[in-house]
Amino acid sequence: MTQVSFEYFPPQSIEASFRLRDTAQVLAPFAPRFVSVTYGAGGTTRTLTRDAARALQGPNQRVAAHLTCVGATRDETLQVADDYAADGITDIVALRGDPPKGQGAFTPHPDGFTDSVELIEALAKTGKFTIRVGAYPNTHPEAANQAADIDWLKRKIDAGASEALTQFFFDPEDFLRFRDACAAAGITAPITPGILPIENWNGVKRFAAACGTPIPPQLINAFEKASRDGRCDLLAVAQCSALCDRLRDEGVDRFHFYTMNRPDLTRDVCRALGLPEHRHGLQRVA
Ligand code: FAD
Repeated sequence: MTQVSFEYFPPQSIEASFRLRDTAQVLAPFAPRFVSVTYGAGGTTRTLTRDAARALQGPNQRVAAHLTCVGATRDETLQVADDYAADGITDIVALRGDPPKGQGAFTPHPDGFTDSVELIEALAKTGKFTIRVGAYPNTHPEAANQAADIDWLKRKIDAGASEALTQFFFDPEDFLRFRDACAAAGITAPITPGILPIENWNGVKRFAAACGTPIPPQLINAFEKASRDGRCDLLAVAQCSALCDRLRDEGVDRFHFYTMNRPDLTRDVCRALGLPEHRHGLQRVA
């Protein structure tokens, strides 16, 4: 059976809070395995992440709060994890993170975790969390090559993570090759594809370039034409459903959607995939 999870970012205004609440309510009937809440770049939005995670958490909804090593001591970082645990949050997406814009490469805080493996080890030692980590089908821009990237992913899993969620990608074959390479490297933990329905084509082009995610030429061609005709949404649902379907043909049964706190495209793709909708999916969203 196909299962989904949804990624949200913490709202920074009242209006954005309402939008997140509405998005979570629209998507809740798909009974996500969990929903995740990101941690702001450069370690910002620490309290906003906690607040949003607490608000989304409910009897029918498991929340995974993200946590990065950026701009904080080890004690401060572990305090955030403790706060999550105090709120009843049992799932963490543990990341190294990126420094704030314009600050170049990641430099650890003098008293902070030097990398994601150290963070994962420390979180695993608490015994309080299910830990998920990031993975990169198109190779992380800082990796020497794909083999080195996959070796590092194996170290993250061996340090105590139970699942990897990938960066978004547009060519299903990239994910499938990556999954095979991970298996060949001895990674047995599930690798769940990160799926980005294309809502804002120009924004996605910029984001993909920053992440080193290639966009196949036929996709560029189609979206440039659709943008001109104001028909991007239809194309986005068709393209995203086709991507997921190809992955399902190869046995993928879990998808992690980057919702950008907007429900429509993700909902339409879930429907196109034939996911059942449980009318009482979410009882409480504060
Ligand atoms: P790592 O995997 O630890 O490092 C990135 C790459 O650098 C590795 O793949 C490896 O090739 C190389 N590398 C790093 N350290 C070493 C080392 N010591 N030795 C050898 N190679 C090394 N960012 C946020 O700020 N907030 C979020 O909430 C957030 N959520 C995300 C969720 C997902 C699912 C993903 C995929 C990414 C997310 N990001 C988030 C972005 C992420 O912080 C950046 O991609 C960051 O550059 C890498 O973080 P990581 O934990 O994946 O890094």
